Amino acid sequence: MNAQETESVEAFRARAARWIERDLPRWNDEHVETRDLQRLLFDHGFAGIAFPRAYGGAGLTLDHQKAFYDEATAQDRQVPTGNRVSIGMLGPTILDHGSEDAQLRFLPPLLRGDTLWVQLLSEPQGGSDMAGATTRLTRDGDTYVLHGSKMWSSGAHEADFGLCLCRSDWDAPKHRGLSMIAVPLKGVPGITIQQTRSASGLTSDFSEEFFDNVVLPIEYLIGEENDGWAVAQTLLLHERNTVGNIGYGYLGRRDRGPKRMFGGEPAMRSLAAARRRSALDSVGEAIVETYIESVVAPLTSTRVMAGLRVGTHSGRWGSLTKLQSTVAAQASVRTALAAWGADGVIWDGEEVQYDNVGTTWLESRGGTISGGTNEMQRNIISERLLGLPRESAPDRDVPFSEVLRNARRV
Ligand SMILES: Cc1cc2nc3c(=O)[nH]c(=O)nc-3n(C[C@H](O)[C@H](O)[C@H](O)COP(=O)(O)OP(=O)(O)OC[C@H]3O[C@@H](n4cnc5c(N)ncnc54)[C@H](O)[C@@H]3O)c2cc1C
Repeated sequence: MNAQETESVEAFRARAARWIERDLPRWNDEHVETRDLQRLLFDHGFAGIAFPRAYGGAGLTLDHQKAFYDEATAQDRQVPTGNRVSIGMLGPTILDHGSEDAQLRFLPPLLRGDTLWVQLLSEPQGGSDMAGATTRLTRDGDTYVLHGSKMWSSGAHEADFGLCLCRSDWDAPKHRGLSMIAVPLKGVPGITIQQTRSASGLTSDFSEEFFDNVVLPIEYLIGEENDGWAVAQTLLLHERNTVGNIGYGYLGRRDRGPKRMFGGEPAMRSLAAARRRSALDSVGEAIVETYIESVVAPLTSTRVMAGLRVGTHSGRWGSLTKLQSTVAAQASVRTALAAWGADGVIWDGEEVQYDNVGTTWLESRGGTISGGTNEMQRNIISERLLGLPRESAPDRDVPFSEVLRNARRV
């Protein structure tokens, strides 16, 4: 096969299946850290399957990626779920908007598992109105200076880099004065990271970051200066796709691996629990609905993914799959809680036990908030897919500094 020919999906699937069977550990085997698992994939040419070869990827397509992770699911093998944000959202955003220099600088280490990335979008004053960011980016000769703070950043305490949305022009209208820049999070003067506890109280995956005049190279800018909103839109699109389990973030079926929030298996476990408690009469119907949803949600994802490939669906359909999958996940856990009864709310120790219904219920709340709340997804679906009237935006064409002054007067 010469470099111009693309290996067929079926040939690739067969090759991948053999390697997976031989080299990829099972979920029941000893846990392999995300970075090590990613490195294993990279060393065998299976990291960044749909990323160009020039940046360390396999130079194939999203269909090849899906085939690989479907095989891994079928064989019940570990996949680097801890890397979903880097591989599914931030890498593709750099691929879409980064300069050649930025792509060569950032993508190979990301695909190799050397660097983990996080998104630095939300700020203490609000996340839905992301375009209202007030973290300041100022050009100073050959560098940029970053000042402000971000919060709810998942995994920032472990990450090496973040993509940060900041205000670079205060006199431009809100959406036109933003820039996106890569921020190294380790060993850089002026950065403080404080971990925050999640609702279950058992994990501290979130952080708030404080940037005190942090100096950054201009080469770290992703996209053009003041065009950060376009980059953020792309990032959100990849995020919705990843949460909806399509696109670059597809790492196999979600009812495998440690976070078994929904899918056929949790429904079957709920069934067993309800039987044990003789509670089938009250929760049987909900279990059946959960099961049906667990079959339908992946089918919707598959349909949207196929539509993205052939051009019948736009990336905005990711809002639908994100909405559906998070609603389904919560419904599944709600059903499980009803099926398990009091047993479901007892857990032990400091570790989150994903098999414990109580902690899973608490953790599942975040799904309808992260990556844009479900209200925001419904806004997108109504405005962008169904063509309903857009929400009024009186601040759209006003210089951002005036929006802030007006808000203070109010
Ligand atoms: C599990 C989890 C992981 C996260 N990870 C990250 C991360 O890695 N990086 C990051 O930057 N952020 C992250 N976030 C933050 C997340 O993006 C924000 O919480 C989210 O965008 C909502 O912002 P907010 O919490 O400030 O709520 P607000 O924006 O203050 O909204 C409050 C309520 O008002 C509703 N609302 C607001 N505006 C509208 C509107 N126009 N129409 C209808 N309803 C509206 C919202 O739906 C919500 O119910 C994460 C959050 C969670 C829960």
